[in-house]
Amino acid sequence: MGLEKSNAVILYGRKQGETSKILTVLTQKFGKLTLIAKGSRSMKSKFLGALEPYTVAQIVFYRKENREMQFLSDAAMIQPFVHIHAQLGKMALAAIPCEIIDKSEENEHVNRELYKLLVETLSALDVAASGHKNIIRVFYIRFLKLSGFEIELRYCSGCHKTEVDERQYYLFADGAYYCRACLDSNSDSFVLCKYILELLRWYNTIPLSQAHRARVAMTQGREVDSFLMTNLRYHVEGLENLKSIRYFIQLQSNLKMQQKGKKDGTEN
Ligand SMILES: [Zn+2]
Repeated sequence: MGLEKSNAVILYGRKQGETSKILTVLTQKFGKLTLIAKGSRSMKSKFLGALEPYTVAQIVFYRKENREMQFLSDAAMIQPFVHIHAQLGKMALAAIPCEIIDKSEENEHVNRELYKLLVETLSALDVAASGHKNIIRVFYIRFLKLSGFEIELRYCSGCHKTEVDERQYYLFADGAYYCRACLDSNSDSFVLCKYILELLRWYNTIPLSQAHRARVAMTQGREVDSFLMTNLRYHVEGLENLKSIRYFIQLQSNLKMQQKGKKDGTEN
């Protein structure tokens, strides 16, 4: 058993007994880990404040390979993401990529690219003043790519034409779309209209730090979200019932009640 150190994003934390906490973290060096932080909830704890979900901390822990839970020895905050923690909407969105990783990653599967993607997603969410949902959509697309399910959005996979028609037909199994002429009529497809395909192409190439700039109408935003979530669930196991998505939808519908009467405007 050795003492190890790594930067880590805190994905999830729950109370254990009177003073301890069980944490799921995505570390840069060791992949996802479950840690027990003994005494972390007492006022004297040296960890206090360094173990909040959706922050980056440097953690030190006792590592024994293939043990279900590792023991945290020390933690220091590196990136607190104060704007995420100050706004309910941002915090609800930050929970989504964290829960997706928590539910889909195996413990101790080292994936530095995924760690980088998560930190970039949270950083973009922290600083953007508006357009936050776009950041999560870019995360979905990059996460699919890292999981081995890149979406082909550049051309029809039958005839390779790049021009966009009014409607194209996406097949989840192929990770690609077809024009009307190339579609096998028996295929069960997801219809992508011109605007949605062009928006997806934009998400597919934009840096995360710029993703917030898109101005998307609410109905079209819902269509993009439905396409991306269906795609994720089709390929990645464990994402059927995400608490974070349910919570975010609930939060949005409460907000909508407050703004009743407002026509289909742009998102936040
Ligand atoms: Zn075609």
